[in-house]
Amino acid sequence: MEKLLDNQVALITGASSGIGYGVAQALAQAGAAVVLNYHSNAEAAEKLAEEIERAGGFALAVKADVSDPAQVDSMFDACRKRFDTVDIVVANSGLQKDSAFAEMTLEDWQKVLSTNLTGQFLTTQAAVKEFRRRGPRAVSKALGKIICMSSVHEVIPWAGHVNYAASKGGIQMFMKSLAQEVAPERIRVNSIAPGAIRTPINKDAWGTQEALDKLLKLIPYGRVGEAEDIGQAAVWLASDQSDYVVGTTLFVDGGMTLYPGFADNG
Ligand code: NAD
Repeated sequence: MEKLLDNQVALITGASSGIGYGVAQALAQAGAAVVLNYHSNAEAAEKLAEEIERAGGFALAVKADVSDPAQVDSMFDACRKRFDTVDIVVANSGLQKDSAFAEMTLEDWQKVLSTNLTGQFLTTQAAVKEFRRRGPRAVSKALGKIICMSSVHEVIPWAGHVNYAASKGGIQMFMKSLAQEVAPERIRVNSIAPGAIRTPINKDAWGTQEALDKLLKLIPYGRVGEAEDIGQAAVWLASDQSDYVVGTTLFVDGGMTLYPGFADNG
């Protein structure tokens, strides 16, 4: 049976855990060959690659720090070497270094910005260059598709996390400006803004019953999200089914951005 992403190649950064892992699984199930970038957990990335190949798919695990231009270049070289090119790039890597504003170190500010914002700049710049180099392919209506992993914190302020919120607020205008610039070449750039998804990055927010109850008050839909929820959104945004969707942030958040605190008139 024909699948939505048959004969396409997808690169997912930060694919050894959490959302990246779920997105990679979903894209592979939709027929794409996947390049699984990891930063440090080679074992998890290799295990996922084996799992995908055992199920009849194609996968390659590649180590790279997305904040390092030379490593991003080598990651794209590895992509070309194994699969000739790439059609879909999901710039997903990200981290948090939380602290009260006055105590936040310059190091923690720069670490978050260099991974979450500069990392997406370097990854998507290499993607645009690769799409242009190889030209159109019959596998998709677009020349290439880019998905930036944003967050509800591209619009919801977050005390105690100014570095993270600044990086995701930055992604909002980064994505839109890039989408505007490359849309005439039929490169589609969009974001996914997840709400609370059960992954290692936010274990403190769902790891105990008390924390979970508090978190659920912020989610009108009444459940924490799973990586699979984001994976399914990514499949759609990467496929021709969303061919007219350009420069949009798709919120996948169980209604978190509906300001549930105002549900009873505040
Ligand atoms: P996670 O910690 O499981 O995954 C983050 C991944 O990024 C890890 O695999 C990590 O190795 C990788 N990474 C970190 N620094 C890197 C670097 N320099 N180079 C390459 N890879 C690097 O957390 P997650 O929740 O899966 O987060 C994935 C993305 O989703 C992040 O951008 C995060 O901001 C975003 N997000 C998550 C949530 C959530 O609720 N979990 C909500 C909104 C947005």
